[in-house]
Amino acid sequence: MYDIIIVGAGPAGLTAALYAGRTRKKILVLEAKVYGGQIINANKIVNYPGYNEINGVDFATNLYDQVVNLGVEIKFDKVINIDTKEMKVITNNDTYSTKAIILAMGVQSKKTGLINEDRFIGKGLSYCATCDGSFYKDQDVCVYGGEESTLEEALYLSDICNKVYVINKNDKFNDSSDLLEKVNNKDNINVLTNTSIKSINGDDSINSIDIINNEGNKTINITGLFIALGKIPENNNIVKDIKIDDNGYIVAKEDCHTNINHIYVAGDIRTKNLRQLTTACSDGAIAATMAIKEMER
Ligand SMILES: Cc1cc2nc3c(=O)[nH]c(=O)nc-3n(C[C@H](O)[C@H](O)[C@H](O)COP(=O)(O)OP(=O)(O)OC[C@H]3O[C@@H](n4cnc5c(N)ncnc54)[C@H](O)[C@@H]3O)c2cc1C
Repeated sequence: MYDIIIVGAGPAGLTAALYAGRTRKKILVLEAKVYGGQIINANKIVNYPGYNEINGVDFATNLYDQVVNLGVEIKFDKVINIDTKEMKVITNNDTYSTKAIILAMGVQSKKTGLINEDRFIGKGLSYCATCDGSFYKDQDVCVYGGEESTLEEALYLSDICNKVYVINKNDKFNDSSDLLEKVNNKDNINVLTNTSIKSINGDDSINSIDIINNEGNKTINITGLFIALGKIPENNNIVKDIKIDDNGYIVAKEDCHTNINHIYVAGDIRTKNLRQLTTACSDGAIAATMAIKEMER
């Protein structure tokens, strides 16, 4: 019987393990793929407190080693179901009993499906303006998508970059706020609707994209392409009856407690306003501390 099982070895899950592992509790982390989560795709992290600059894999490895050195058990096995009544975590290979669970499964960015997409990740192509925008200071960039987050990213980039193209393949944005008005009021943002990206071009890094709309084909010279098609929470319905919002994020306030007893949530998969390393780590620390406090009460 474990005291706490943590699902996911991204920054949130590993930070939860770091906090929980410093107690005398029996902790298990279960990870479906490799340790580190999304951040292993980051070439450079420049917004984590205490580091001027660090590579994503190095950041993840430091955190992983820190947790392993505490003696926390980590298994690479995908969680497929959680029985919250019996407090059992079922993986592809085993079933584990526990007193508390921290869900830290994170999110995945929606992809465009364009041929060169994977090749240019970290070489001009990014899924996060807050993370990578500063690398494109005074340059021309494009944000691709039709979501509220597309407009948010464009506004953010417009304060850093020279020119920002917003390309949306639909005629409208999926936006219930006044963001489009704000975007339209910015001199350096150019919105192109009913427009698709045909190809991403470049050698070592992106130098242009080809687009198509009812005016024909055109090449736009840019150095940065930000994909903002939305995120998919890695919820996969593994916990029956857990409360999620309309977009599939697990609902919890700052204490990270879900609607189910002894089940906590941490990181990008939780309902929140900012999905970043700092907030993921912060959640991990809170979820572990709350779970332990509850256990000792
Ligand atoms: C390219 C890129 C660059 C970024 N750069 C920055 C940056 O510079 N600064 C910054 O602050 N943020 C950055 N971010 C955002 C940051 O990486 C995330 O906010 C952070 O990783 C969220 O951590 P998390 O642990 O909540 O989720 P994740 O990192 O998504 O980790 C979740 C983990 O859970 C595992 N998992 C999922 N389902 C299961 C299951 N059923 N069973 C077991 N394991 C499971 C996944 O495999 C994954 O390892 C970047 C993101 C990307 C994609």
